[in-house]
Amino acid sequence: MQKEKITAIVLAGGNGTRMGSSCKKQYILLNGRPILYYSLKAFQESSVDDIVLVTNEEEYCRDEILEKYNLNKVSKIVSGGAERFDSVYAGLLAAKDCSYVLIHDGARPFVTQDMIQKSIDAVKIYHACVIGMPVKDTIKIADENKFADKTPKRESVWQIQTPQTFSYDLILKAYDKVLKEKPEGITDDAMAVEYGNDTKVKLLSGSYKNIKITTPEDLIIAEAFLR
Ligand code: C5P
Repeated sequence: MQKEKITAIVLAGGNGTRMGSSCKKQYILLNGRPILYYSLKAFQESSVDDIVLVTNEEEYCRDEILEKYNLNKVSKIVSGGAERFDSVYAGLLAAKDCSYVLIHDGARPFVTQDMIQKSIDAVKIYHACVIGMPVKDTIKIADENKFADKTPKRESVWQIQTPQTFSYDLILKAYDKVLKEKPEGITDDAMAVEYGNDTKVKLLSGSYKNIKITTPEDLIIAEAFLR
């Protein structure tokens, strides 16, 4: 039987404007290495077969990350698009011969081997799974005038992280539909599957450390984690 190929798509095609820095956030140095290095390294050391890197800084990534740290599982580099879902779609088209795909934000350097492996194990059962954690705070749903409207039970509210992992055909079909029908507010890959699809997305516990580096205070937290 032919082995089922598993591909990771690592997204680094954004501008990172919320960081307010001249350097795009995924390339800011953490302990002397670009933030993007850490997640590429995690996938390099995992059981995934190859990595598609989505970036608009191909030369920098090749010279300063891939060759420098010998990250030879990166088999393709493709350009990102205007929105995150455009970048994901470019990555999906490049990953075309795989069975399962893990989609990961390059701005989340603390992804672990445990998160990657449990995603791979679960996708073979559920076809769609995402890493996340139950929220720590009470969450309020606001009405249009910013009054508290509803308070969902805390244990049923999760904050969703990446990797988000899917059977390849399922996620490609989901994104084809999203790009054709352009519904508003698709902010993660699981939502693309939830939109007009019967497959339920399984939630897998990750870690509160698996933060996305977005604003300057996240950098201080990330440096503390690395110490
Ligand atoms: O902007 P946000 O923090 O949601 O980005 C999450 C990840 O998606 C980042 O790693 C970013 O580089 C990537 N992204 C992308 N293409 C875009 C927007 C974001 O690859 N157009």
